[in-house]
Formats: sequence, C-alpha cells, structure tokens
Amino acid sequence: MASTDYAVVADGLVKRYGERRVVDGVDLTVPKGMIYGVLGPNGAGKTTTLRMTLGIIEPDEGARTLLDGAHPRDVGDRVGYLPEERGLYPSMKAREAVAFMGALRGLDWQTGRARAAEMLEAAGLGHAIDEKIRKLSKGMAQLVQLLGAVVHRPDLLVLDEPFSGLDPVNQERLEALILAERDRGATILFSTHVMQHAQRLCDRLAVIAGGQRRFEGTVDEARALLPQQVHYVPSHGDAQLATMLPPTARREAEGWRFALPQEGIEGLLRRLIDAGYGIKGLSIERPGLHDAFVRIVGQAVPEAKA
Ligand code: ATP
Repeated sequence: MASTDYAVVADGLVKRYGERRVVDGVDLTVPKGMIYGVLGPNGAGKTTTLRMTLGIIEPDEGARTLLDGAHPRDVGDRVGYLPEERGLYPSMKAREAVAFMGALRGLDWQTGRARAAEMLEAAGLGHAIDEKIRKLSKGMAQLVQLLGAVVHRPDLLVLDEPFSGLDPVNQERLEALILAERDRGATILFSTHVMQHAQRLCDRLAVIAGGQRRFEGTVDEARALLPQQVHYVPSHGDAQLATMLPPTARREAEGWRFALPQEGIEGLLRRLIDAGYGIKGLSIERPGLHDAFVRIVGQAVPEAKA
C-alpha cells in the first residue's frame, strides 16, 4: 500500500518516564477506512501510544504521520479524539457542548448546533438536548463527549477506552456509532481491554503489553493462534472417563472441554463409544479473542502475516 492508503503510520515509538520505557518501540499502521483496535492490559502503554500518535505528547524516539503523511499538528481539524479522562463544562447544555467541541476543530457554530441536535436525537439522547451536562449521568455525558468528537466529521477518530463506564445499552449505541462512522468513510482507532467489543468491531488489531507490540493482525488471525476447543458431553460418565481424555481436559458444569487433538477427534470418539461413554453432546468451537488475548499477553507470539 502507498503511504496515502494509511490514516496512521507510526514507526518505533518510544516514551520514557524516568528509567522506564513505558512505550518501547511500537509500530502502528492503520489502513484508511478501518476500525482498528489497540488492545492491552492496564498499564500496557495504550494511552501513551495514542497520545504520541496524535501529537499530544512527543515521542522520545520514533516518528508518526497521520492522514496522507502529515504531522499530527497540521491535521487537527480532520481528527476527532475522545481522551481517557472525560470532561465537559458542567454548565453547558448538551447541544452547546457538542457544538463547542466542533468549533474547537474548525466547525462553524450554527452547523455544529444543528448537527448536535440531530446527533443527540439519533443517539437516543433527544431528551437531553437542552439539559446541562451536570444533570446528565456519567454514561450520558460520555456519549455527549463522543458526539463532540465526531460532530466535525473527522477523517480519523481516535477513542481511548470509549466503552468504559457505559451500561450495556449505551455500549450498543456506541458500537452502532462507531460502525456508522466507518460507513461514513472515517478511520477509527480505539483502545480497549474489553474483548467482546474488539471481537465484534475490529477489522484489524494490535495487542500491546509491557510497552511492546506483541501481535498485529485480524481478529481471525488472533483467534487462530489457539487450537479449536472440543466440548464433549458423555451419555454416561465415571471416574475412568478422565483417563481417556487429553491430560489438559477441563471439567465443566456439563461435560468436558479440551483442545482439539492434532490427529483429530475421530479416534478418540471411537474409543469413548467403544468404552460405553457415548456422546450426548459434541461441539468444536474456535476460541474467542479473550483466550487469544490471554495467550498473547502471557507470552510473545509470532505476528500474523499481513
Ligand atoms: P490503562 O488501560 O490502565 O489506561 P494504558 O495501557 O493506557 O493503561 P498508559 O496510560 O499508557 O497505559 O500507561 C503506561 C505506563 O506508563 C503506566 O505504568 C503509567 O503509570 C505510566 N505513565 C503514563 N503516563 C505517565 C507520566 N506522565 N509519568 C509517569 N508515568 C507515566
């Protein structure tokens, strides 16, 4: 891909605080038009990476460009950002708060107010249009702030832990909003440690742990790092059954779970049937992103091919 195909190109970002390299050589290339997740445990360096990418703080080493090779400072009006620390002026009304954030990114006030009313309505916050921020719940205020980050219709939207603090209904609203922004043509870069959102939303993702990138690829490539899981429920069980299963088999509320043996499942099933245990239930499932994440942050793994 040419550099114009990327919304973010970051090479070897390093940030030191004292003796610690809290970000230690992270590369981040985000193709345009994608939803891209930055995943990692608490303290992994996600926020610091995003802040360097956006030019809010300067990297000690490495370089980054946004949107067709520009320095982050030169494309501020084409970028939307929801920081990890939330905050709006408590005495502003929701509609004005959204328009105000748009104005900070170059959107004229009247257009901002008109769009704010439409967007609040569409996000299920029509009742809050003329409500002061201080009267809104924390989750509602967060959605208002998010609308403020997109009201100027940015080409790149960067969201730091956007799902934290939202109830399930508002999490769904946020997922819908992120998908609508991608459909509009925006690129979305967001950080999270909630795997279910990442699994549903991300076209690609990077996993950062200990300040380093441990994985880059698609959700499917991450999930393919682990073997498929067999869930087997016998018709009849006894103490001897466990000795026939792979040593890593785990007892569950109903039946057993184990990694699909390399040689396949047929031989094992035949032996279980011959021994009289039968098959009441059998399914073979791909592991979820959560399990892949645990595996990735627990140990370094090779990168999936682009
Ligand atoms: P979380 O999910 O908990 O927000 P994160 O992956 O976003 O974590 P960062 O906020 O980037 O992680 O922090 C990475 C590490 O750098 C942490 O150990 C944090 O304490 C440290 N750190 C971040 N900012 C500073 C700072 N200004 N001064 C000193 N240490 C810092």
